[in-house]
Amino acid sequence: MTAQYQVHGDVAIITLDNPPVNGLGLATRQGIADGMAKANADAAVRAIIVTGAGKAFSGGADIKEFGSSKAMQEPNLNSVISVLENSTKPVIGAIHTVVMGGGLELALGCHYRIAAPGTSVALPEVKLGLLPGAGGTQRLPRVLGVEAALNMIVSGEAIKAEMLAMLPGQKLFDKMAASAESLAEEALAFARSVADARPLPLVRNLPCKHPQGDAYFQFARNMVKGMSKNFPAPAKCVDAVEAATKKKFDDGMAVERETFIHLMWTPESKSLRHLFLAERAASKIPDVPADTAQRAINSIAVIGAGTMGGGIAMNFLNAGIPVKMLEMKQEALDRGVATIRKNYEAQVKKGKLKQDKYDQRMALLTTTLSYDDLNGTDMVIEAVFEEIGVKEAVFKELDRVMKPGAILASNTSTLDVNKIASFTQRPEDVVGLHFFSPANVMKLLEVVRGAKTAKDVMATVMTVAKKIRKTAVVSGVCDGFIGNRMIEQYGRQGGFLLDEGCTPAQVDKAMEKFGMAMGPFRMGDLAGNDIGWAIRKRRYQEKPDMKYSKTADLLCEKGRFGQKTGAGWYDYVAGKRDAIPNAEVVAMVEEHRKSLGITPRKISDEEIVQRLVFSLVNEAARILEEGIANKASDIDIVYIFGYGFPAHRGGPMNYADQVGLFNVVQAINRFAQNPMDDAKFWQPAPLLARLVAEGKTFN
Ligand code: NAD
Repeated sequence: MTAQYQVHGDVAIITLDNPPVNGLGLATRQGIADGMAKANADAAVRAIIVTGAGKAFSGGADIKEFGSSKAMQEPNLNSVISVLENSTKPVIGAIHTVVMGGGLELALGCHYRIAAPGTSVALPEVKLGLLPGAGGTQRLPRVLGVEAALNMIVSGEAIKAEMLAMLPGQKLFDKMAASAESLAEEALAFARSVADARPLPLVRNLPCKHPQGDAYFQFARNMVKGMSKNFPAPAKCVDAVEAATKKKFDDGMAVERETFIHLMWTPESKSLRHLFLAERAASKIPDVPADTAQRAINSIAVIGAGTMGGGIAMNFLNAGIPVKMLEMKQEALDRGVATIRKNYEAQVKKGKLKQDKYDQRMALLTTTLSYDDLNGTDMVIEAVFEEIGVKEAVFKELDRVMKPGAILASNTSTLDVNKIASFTQRPEDVVGLHFFSPANVMKLLEVVRGAKTAKDVMATVMTVAKKIRKTAVVSGVCDGFIGNRMIEQYGRQGGFLLDEGCTPAQVDKAMEKFGMAMGPFRMGDLAGNDIGWAIRKRRYQEKPDMKYSKTADLLCEKGRFGQKTGAGWYDYVAGKRDAIPNAEVVAMVEEHRKSLGITPRKISDEEIVQRLVFSLVNEAARILEEGIANKASDIDIVYIFGYGFPAHRGGPMNYADQVGLFNVVQAINRFAQNPMDDAKFWQPAPLLARLVAEGKTFN
């Protein structure tokens, strides 16, 4: 049962009971309708309360039903709301904790609403590329006023009930309960107080007007234009709310319905819904059951107080977990602590962090030069130089001092985690935690599972990741793990495009128009071109037959490492991040092209995008087939949260699915014919070929 029915004297109570957030799936909707029928048929019942069990009134639609016929199956949400509205006995929504999306729309169908303070109220559909589809755009403006309602609908952000209750003239809440604890009792008393009130008030009958009418909606359209470049939904929200002010209620509902269905089929909304589910799925590891017993992690040690060590430490301090940082020299420790301090102070200055919070966080940070001081900590994360010899020395020390059961993690970006584990007598306790730079900002965390990493270690670090608000994705051990292994192919394609006729700016512009946060050359300048250079030097030894453009090496030979040296593929002015094209770099590219005897050709934006994105996809298909990634959606999460891939495309795998894998393979075969490119790489990955043959998709 996903909705309970009880009678308390003369009041019936329908309690949504569909954990975790009382999602309004088909069974729950049916439960509400059944409860309403029972209550209306029972002569002893004079009023009906609708409320939610546990931690929500209702979080809204069941997202798993989106896009399937189940969401529309009767009784659909609009029908259930009609049942509430048409009840001959008053219906009171008793609202607490969370009332969102369809949950709020359901509440707006009640005759009266009483809310507990602290309740989060939102219509977040826009975040999934949609608009509220069960009257939210028509009813919320009627109870909150047009502007307040439109702001909520367009932003999708949650607002506390007590804030909304203060809006002048608001009719969203008829009463605020004194506390969450007293809500049930107050709702009963309120229900009895309105049991005989007639006619029953309906939100749909309230007027809906904006005094400035057209001028206001013009202003609203301009506002959303800037913030919704790649998303159609916000502008459609404005249309629907405008319809609420200009049309009769039922005609406004028809506009909302039509717009909702249109948005449901847009690739943008499909991508956002895919990501919503993908993010939740990422934390699940197929062979690690959800109830795996976990290790307690209440303190952390970080080895190395450099760029990464400092950022990693901040994540834990932010979460209230004590951190002990270890370095070889006091100066290095002092520098590391000073950087952390500076970062926090900048946040305090901007008003993003309160002084007392800052003090609390810094108080959780201690430092040491001695490994023996680490024996009390539950987990250690190593972030020292990227050299296997240094890692060996560190892990031998850690093995010596860390208490039994402590988790030993490495932030290595390229080294073999199995090898690192082998430096200890406890490889089952060793795991890779690959943070992205800046580690206190970037959401992505690749959790690298070694061949011997224990299941409870995996389960524990996934929980730790949540505590420090990272989106964790599991990767197997391979060179570059999921993200960097793919980006190497992407970078190679960027180089070939320069050789064939592009400028760095042309490639970047095409990719940025596609939606990437940054094109590959701007990204190289940000990350440091010397990092790729070091990797290529290694590759030239390991894989002498692998083809590379030499332009990036030539650039590095000039010392143009990127933003950190003020010059890379572009020039940079100190303190600014604007990439200014540099004529010398363009000439260098041209000269190199000439030395190869290549006549430049005009390359379309479409080809640029396809070669770069499909190189990611082809490599990803291999990663998937090798079991390095557990599922295609994990790869999408890596690219969205770690590499600036556009959310409205839903990640490279989702994008490939949307383009059609048949078309992807066609393009790949075409690229293989290009003598300037790497025909060997452009063999469709076996998995990709198989999916096409079977008419399947990645997701
Ligand atoms: P860094 O040079 O900024 O910092 C390394 C720090 O480790 C230095 O402060 C150094 O003094 C200290 N150190 C070196 N040997 C040590 C030892 N034996 N004991 C204690 N401290 C020691 O380097 P970083 O960029 O922070 O990189 C650290 C690790 O993180 C590397 O494995 C790197 O591959 C990885 N990583 C870096 C990035 C990045 O973008 N910089 C991203 C992901 C992962």
